[in-house]
Parts: sequence; structure tokens; C-alpha cells
Amino acid sequence: MSPATVHASSQWHASVDESVIAVSGRKVAVLGGGIFGCSAAVALARAGHTVELFEQQATLMNAASMVNQYRLHRGYHYPRSSSTGVASRAAAASFRQHYGAAIIDGGRHFYAIARQGSKLDGAAFMNFCESERLAYRVVDNCSLVNYDTIEVVVDVEETRFDPWVLRELASEQMNAAGVRCHLGVRAPDDLRRRFDFIVIAGYASTNELLQHLGCATSPYQFEVCEKPVVAMPSEFTDTGIVVMDGPFGSIDPFAATEHHVLGSVDQAIHYRTIGARCEVPAHLQSVLNAGVVAPPPFSRCSGFITSGSEHIPSLAHARHVGSMFTVRAVQPNVDATDERLTSVQKIDAQVARVFSGKIVTAIDAALQVCAIVADG
Ligand SMILES: Cc1cc2nc3c(=O)[nH]c(=O)nc-3n(C[C@H](O)[C@H](O)[C@H](O)COP(=O)(O)OP(=O)(O)OC[C@H]3O[C@@H](n4cnc5c(N)ncnc54)[C@H](O)[C@@H]3O)c2cc1C
Repeated sequence: MSPATVHASSQWHASVDESVIAVSGRKVAVLGGGIFGCSAAVALARAGHTVELFEQQATLMNAASMVNQYRLHRGYHYPRSSSTGVASRAAAASFRQHYGAAIIDGGRHFYAIARQGSKLDGAAFMNFCESERLAYRVVDNCSLVNYDTIEVVVDVEETRFDPWVLRELASEQMNAAGVRCHLGVRAPDDLRRRFDFIVIAGYASTNELLQHLGCATSPYQFEVCEKPVVAMPSEFTDTGIVVMDGPFGSIDPFAATEHHVLGSVDQAIHYRTIGARCEVPAHLQSVLNAGVVAPPPFSRCSGFITSGSEHIPSLAHARHVGSMFTVRAVQPNVDATDERLTSVQKIDAQVARVFSGKIVTAIDAALQVCAIVADG
């Protein structure tokens, strides 16, 4: 059967109801215990399937689902990919319904448009927000940015999530739904014999898992990213700022902790490759998905701070606490749009694959997996 890709979309979300997905009682393996694998496992078990999840690490959600910027995107970050925002907004209600306790509402979320080097100016950004019906409020006196280098600052309606609470909820829901969870266990060899259906949710390992099952792979862009954790002055409490739209930086609260995480398009990437797999250089392997490494054996934190201070001067007062490292995987050649769509694909009669874009789409993707498995 030829692969059919279904993107998370408002249309799909409106047309699929969890309660009407047929209960067919199949034996299903889910490979990968990130938020997408956990969500799929729960949805499948609730739909009446017998589900086993395999996660190679000793705990769930240790990889990209733990090491990211913790934003529940609504589209502000994607003025060049309207579809990423549309899919994120369409998915928001289902994510809140399942994982509401992990959502941190409130706080201040600023988007700041740089005067130089930005792919769009302030007027274009505000036009985009209006055309997408994304609420914003222009802030003329934001004390945290340098208006010599920043043209416009807007306060937006975005939220963030707490990855530890998300992990707790996912784990509780898997227990309650009767998912058998194998932690510290890599995908076994005899999956096709033991299971009626296999769901790949390995994100950066998606191709390894496809190969493992004898399926064709396609290239991805892999990036080993550093996420510095910093202590900031109190004026940053509960405050995030993204400088748009180009090779700039961002700062966000580190979930509900007292610290912040830094982002930087230029500085974050320690290694990049496009191909079937990401052969992580030896020196990076020990820090990968290892939580906050303090002090890390190497870091570009001072580069994040120096480049970011041009737009956010008090970043100069950031104190480096430690750094996290993980692999980001994106479709190749999407730099022009920065598109980050989640795709759910039926690979063959026995295999489906989820490749995640934005975390907020995890439940929508899980329901799409259920529809594929129910279809047979
Ligand atoms: C630096 C960075 C910042 C980001 N910021 C945001 C953000 O602010 N907001 C947002 O919405 N998204 C963000 N993203 C994207 C988001 O984090 C990911 O799309 C999402 O977390 C991936 O979830 P997942 O479940 O698909 O993969 P993961 O969380 O990576 O889980 C995949 C799991 O598969 C397991 N696995 C792999 N191979 C095997 C195997 N052979 N056997 C068993 N298990 C295996 C891995 O150990 C891992 O636990 C960011 C990503 C990065 C890297």
C-alpha cells in the first residue's frame, strides 16, 4: 500500500471523534516513549487495543520531549508557515483536555522584531498576526529589550508547559489505560511476528526504527542542540522573549523552575547533518538527553549571551547553571518556511509512523494513529 500522509489539521480534528474509533482489539507495539509515543499508546489502549510501549531509556520523555523550549505554539513563531500555526491552534483544545495540568497559563510572552537581518519587519509581522487572527498587543516601553536594535515588541497569548508534569500525566494515563511499558528496552527484533501493528514514534531515531522493520527511509536534517539553563534577574520572572525572524535568540522560563532556558539559531547547533541517520560525534554522545549537565564539558552559553545581549541587554547578567543537549530532527530543506508540521503516515499494512512537529499536536496525532490502526 502506498504511504498516505495525514497532517494534523483543523479539518481532521473536527471530523474524528475519539469515541467513534472502532474497537478492534489488535496487538500493537509503540516504539518510543516521548510525548508522541505515550499519547498514541494511551489512545490506542483506550480504543480497545492491547498496547506495549518500548522505550530505550530508563525513563519516559527524556529526549526531545524533555529538552526543548517548552512553548505551546499557536503560530506566532511561524510567520512563514501559516500551516504550522493552523495545525497547532487546531490541536490546542485536545492537548489541554488531556494534559491541562501540565500547561502553565499566564506569564508574559513577547515577540520582538529585529531592525536588522529579519526576514520580515514589524508591520509584516502584525499583518500576519491579524490575518491569522492571532491576538497581540504592541508594547512601546518593554524594559527588557533594546529599541535601538528592536523595531517592535508585541505581547502575545501563548502558553508553556511543564515537561515533568507532562511526563507524570502521560505515565499515569498509560497505567490507567493498561499500556504495558518496557523501559530501558530497545525495539525488539521480532516485532512483526509478535504484533499485529507497530507504531514508530522515535523522532530523531525514526529512520533507525524504519530500517529495523525493513521499511524505506527518507533523509532528515539532524541537529545536536544545546539548551543552556541560566539564572536571570527577577525582572525576567515568568517572562519569555523571542527575537524574530532570523538568526536570533530567545529566552523562556524553564517550565515552572526559577531558571530560564536560552535559544539561539546560530549558537545552539553543535553538529548538523542531512541524511538517513544522525551519527552523533563521540564527544557529544555523553551529554545527549542526560538532563541538565552542570557544568557541561563544553558549552556555547557565552555565545548565546553575547549575541542575545544585543537585543536583550540584561542577558549579560545571565548566570550559566548548566546545559541540556538533544537531537532535533526536521524535514530537510524547510529553512525557507521553517515549517514544523506533524505527520502521521501509514507505511505498510503493519506499520505507521508519527513524525512530530509541535508538541501541542500530540493528541491529534494519536487520534490519527488510532484511525490508521482501526482501518487495518
Ligand atoms: C531544541 C529544541 C527545541 C524545541 N522547542 C519546542 C517548543 O518550544 N515547542 C514545541 O512544541 N516543540 C519544540 N520542539 C520540538 C519537540 O520537542 C519535538 O517535536 C517533540 O518533543 C518530539 O517528541 P517525540 O515523542 O516525537 O520524540 P522524543 O521525545 O524524542 O521521543 C522519542 C523516543 O524514542 C526513543 N527511542 C528511539 N529509538 C528507540 C529504539 N530503538 N527503541 C526504543 N526507543 C527508542 C527515544 O529514547 C525517545 O525517548 C523542540 C525541539 C528541540 C530539539
